[in-house]
Amino acid sequence: MGTQRDLMELAKRRGFFFGSNGAYGGTAGFYTFGPEGAALKHNVESAWRDQFTVRLGNDEIEAPTIMPEAVFEASGHLDGFDDMLVECAECGTSHRADHLIEDAVDEIEDAEALGSKKVGDLIAEHDLACPTCGASLAGEPVEDFNLMFETSIGPGTGQPGYMRPETAQGIFVEFPRLKEYARGQLPFGVTQIGTAYRNEISPRRGIIRVREFTQAELEQFIDPKEDEPPLGEVEDVAVTLYPATEQHDADGDYLTTTIGEAVEKEVIGSPWVAYFMGVAQGWYERVGVDMDRFRFRQHLAGERAHYAADCWDAESEIDGNWIEIAGFAYRSDYDLLKHGAYAEDRFTVFKRYDEPVTVEKAVVDPDMSALGPEFGGTASDIAAALEALADADPDAFDGDEVTVDVDGERYSVDTDVANFAVETQTEAGEHITPHVVEPSFGVGRTVYTLLEHGYREDEVDGETRTYLSLAPEIAPTTVAVFPLVSNDDALVDVATDISRTLRQAGVSVSYDDSGSIGRRYRRQDEVGTPFCVTVDQDGLEGDGQNTVTLRERDSAAQIRLPLDRVADEIAALVADEQTFDELHGRYSAVDTDVTAA
Ligand code: AMP
Repeated sequence: MGTQRDLMELAKRRGFFFGSNGAYGGTAGFYTFGPEGAALKHNVESAWRDQFTVRLGNDEIEAPTIMPEAVFEASGHLDGFDDMLVECAECGTSHRADHLIEDAVDEIEDAEALGSKKVGDLIAEHDLACPTCGASLAGEPVEDFNLMFETSIGPGTGQPGYMRPETAQGIFVEFPRLKEYARGQLPFGVTQIGTAYRNEISPRRGIIRVREFTQAELEQFIDPKEDEPPLGEVEDVAVTLYPATEQHDADGDYLTTTIGEAVEKEVIGSPWVAYFMGVAQGWYERVGVDMDRFRFRQHLAGERAHYAADCWDAESEIDGNWIEIAGFAYRSDYDLLKHGAYAEDRFTVFKRYDEPVTVEKAVVDPDMSALGPEFGGTASDIAAALEALADADPDAFDGDEVTVDVDGERYSVDTDVANFAVETQTEAGEHITPHVVEPSFGVGRTVYTLLEHGYREDEVDGETRTYLSLAPEIAPTTVAVFPLVSNDDALVDVATDISRTLRQAGVSVSYDDSGSIGRRYRRQDEVGTPFCVTVDQDGLEGDGQNTVTLRERDSAAQIRLPLDRVADEIAALVADEQTFDELHGRYSAVDTDVTAA
């Protein structure tokens, strides 16, 4: 394990990521993924797409990142997507007030739940100082700061718009169309990988808390009464859980269990949430997260969004701290009900019954020739109010008179004039608002976790080396190809040929002929390239069959294999159909002299 400083230095030097706009003094909270980082990030996204879109049979969409104000009025972000801000009067630096309190007071783990007034009082009580300049923050106001970036759509004053703070809203607002593509059948899932923007008060720790980041989200739409997840697929998956009850306890413990047992014992309240946690566990293992430094933590009651029935985070351990890398939330019908109330389209699904059902329905047929003369312009509103009342409270029509409210005024109408009746009707189905279950992954935080969990130092050929133990599927480059020396045309020709063949087979290849072979191996180790192929004179001058060496990154072990087997053997290694150890048994080993050359 490296320190965070070692990793940040490596990330910058080798082109994984670095602070953006350095030539203009840098912009806090924005990072550029360099060539190695962009390749790594895309590989993480592809692996996510493979699991959560393709293998789960979902549909992927790509929505705009700017959305009009009305969307965020409906979603609640305009009013409530706030963090607590306290500003230092001395140096002007902004801080997350809740984080300051959590860092300073051991017993407080979730200061956000206390509200800004209380957090302000606590800052004064504990006489907290500004982490930047040391001035006292006691008495400074704690404000709710909305994290959305505002913009305007179109020229002039335009229409107010916001950069989306989560990709999810792009899926919810298109639900009326998306349900048609799903032929109106629940359950169905829609995924999206894209950028989200949050004007974080204090971006920190490299790409872990930034102002622009990539999310990979799945919105699973279900009928809560009928749809069950295919729990059998993940019931035996072993997980480490950190339930809310344990977090209150000073010596609270993890629960090591299986997904099946956690559902049975109701440790995880929603089987759908549990299902996605099981799928995610397998996926994190696949991409190379160290599962000894990974857990699922349940949200404390005050931490949960108000609509979320149960919520768990996937967390990875980074340099001694746990960070949230994904959230699993049961969002209920909150989002679709909200958009249904604000927007014009229908955010429901028509659920057809197996057999049509006969229902008794209370109806009215108000006599307008009586209502009109009596109530004038209000008559039609009164008629509508009578219809709504018949539906909601048929007993209200039991007496001689019925009373309704219109715009705060009460109106009494003869029950005879309302023409109340109970009719028998046949219904083929009903309109229901689906519930939403959401696994939401941070791509940048996953990338960071893979780098930190894969960071290793060891000794090879008497020298300390640094390498990234990344899964072959995820590593920015899969194979590096080297001619042992660059001034031998025969070696260069064969090496170039191997590069071309591998690239044509879809393998990402880095060709390198500069510097000593040892230096080239170190360069590839540092960017996590799992395999290196070296073309040397021994292989070309041998007993008739041309051979090359294949080196595996973590062990630095090498074998010699026939040239015409290179592409197939590497393909099988990358597809996890064989291990390097198995290959080692089938081909002759080479001692590491080549490395030292
Ligand atoms: P949330 O909607 O807050 O649960 O965020 C979903 C996921 O997005 C989290 O699990 C993180 O992995 C990621 N995320 C949230 N905020 C940030 C940020 N400021 N920088 C990087 N990743 C973030």
